[in-house]
Amino acid sequence: MNETTSPTLLHAVGVTKRYGDVLALAGVDVSIRAGEAVAVMGASGSGKTTLLHCLAAVISPDSGSIRMTRPNGSVIELVGMDEDARSAVRRSSIGFIFQDHLLLPDLTAVENAALPLIMAGTPRVDAEHRAAQWLAHLGLDGMQDRRIGQLSGGQAQRVAIARAQVNGAPMVFADEPTGALDSATSTDVMTALLQSTARQNRGLVVVTHDADVARRCDRVLHMQDGRLVGESFAPQQRAEAGSAR
Ligand code: ADP
Ligand code: MG
Repeated sequence: MNETTSPTLLHAVGVTKRYGDVLALAGVDVSIRAGEAVAVMGASGSGKTTLLHCLAAVISPDSGSIRMTRPNGSVIELVGMDEDARSAVRRSSIGFIFQDHLLLPDLTAVENAALPLIMAGTPRVDAEHRAAQWLAHLGLDGMQDRRIGQLSGGQAQRVAIARAQVNGAPMVFADEPTGALDSATSTDVMTALLQSTARQNRGLVVVTHDADVARRCDRVLHMQDGRLVGESFAPQQRAEAGSAR
């Protein structure tokens, strides 16, 4: 992705969040462009999940600015939005993938993946048709009618990826999406995640402890005590940055 031309999807400045005595975010600046995969690394308690939740409109920071460019080109400020407004933004513009997939066990794969569309008012048949297409795209052909308990960990996580894509969200967030998987499965899930987000010109932010996962992203942000303390680039990005000078 050419960094000079791809539009910024998310632009956060000076984001802070306090929990009682703990300053979980101490003023974070970050921008995410379309087509970019960004990893966030750091010790436990460094603020990674809090940052992800602020950027994904799950929680509201105490101060700072988070501007999101929506699919229609309008720019909205997430900081200060009430819960109803944030929830509407999440439904239309954000996909979220959790470590333990958080799929509904009594529903099938396709029913789980279709949920965001059904909640947004799409008729069930259409929603499940689109969900089935995403499942097939993610290598789950023939498994759409299985309940979650009948899937392996890697397959369930790919259903969660489908669920996060099905509304066409331009921004996708994942909190340790491979944390519960063995390394071969982790590689497959990361391939599916990159192919369905950054390679489709979406923005991806992925919190991870896994250096193999981080290495496959375009950029890695390093957090410590609620701050970004460093940034590293994938080899191809480094080469581009070098040749631009
Ligand atoms: P990480 O994801 O890097 O492990 P977190 O963002 O979960 O870090 O947490 C950052 C800090 O904020 C930690 O000290 C944590 O204990 C604290 N924290 C996070 N969420 C809450 C919460 N809901 N209530 C109180 N403290 C919290
Ligand atoms: Mg965390």
